[in-house]
Amino acid sequence: MKHRGTLVVVSGFSGAGKGTLMKELVARYDNYALSVSMTTRAPRPGEQEGISYFFVERDEFEQTIAQDGLVEYASYCGNYYGTPRRWVEEQLAAGKDVILEIEIQGALKVKQKFPEALLLFVMPPTAKELKRRLTARGTESEAVILSRMERAVQEAEGIEEYDYIIINDELEECVAQMHAIIGMAHNRPAQNVEFIDSLRQELGVLVKGEK
Ligand code: 5GP
Repeated sequence: MKHRGTLVVVSGFSGAGKGTLMKELVARYDNYALSVSMTTRAPRPGEQEGISYFFVERDEFEQTIAQDGLVEYASYCGNYYGTPRRWVEEQLAAGKDVILEIEIQGALKVKQKFPEALLLFVMPPTAKELKRRLTARGTESEAVILSRMERAVQEAEGIEEYDYIIINDELEECVAQMHAIIGMAHNRPAQNVEFIDSLRQELGVLVKGEK
């Protein structure tokens, strides 16, 4: 039976290892489509236009908001980030499980608009490990690292809004866990409305026939 894809939101502190996790998940299974966000942040070394992000100026971002071209958007450490709408809707309709790797304000907006979305929060095993990973990346200044750690303190307040937490300790295990959780979400009633309706109808017809 073909079903509509699941909209999966993945959040987690900067440096929790979401990016690596997502790349592994998409490489290993073919039911996933990873959304590419639009941002006003400058590219980091090695990031590619249209693959890592669509890098735009503020006025282009604001124009896209005005045209209702984004599923959600948020401001994070001084920059805009948003999810382009059209691609996400096409992929869901084609039955793909669409992953949005976004921060918490955006995640909560998605939950309001799409109550059936599955919200996952990736956590580091310890706070010290988070700081170590952020520093080891070597692409951000001390000030940026501090601002991201402060943001992590704020984001930690909202974790209970998510459906599941995933502790990013061992990569293999984490990828398998995430795939299993998303797989289970396919069996939720909200994602099988057509099947449930058609079975109800058939059941009604059968019961009438028996009388
Ligand atoms: P980074 O600058 O490290 O690539 O991303 C900073 C934060 O923005 C991360 O928490 C990331 O998940 C989030 N983010 C990336 N794209 C989007 C988006 O389209 N919408 C929202 N709300 N957050 C995003």
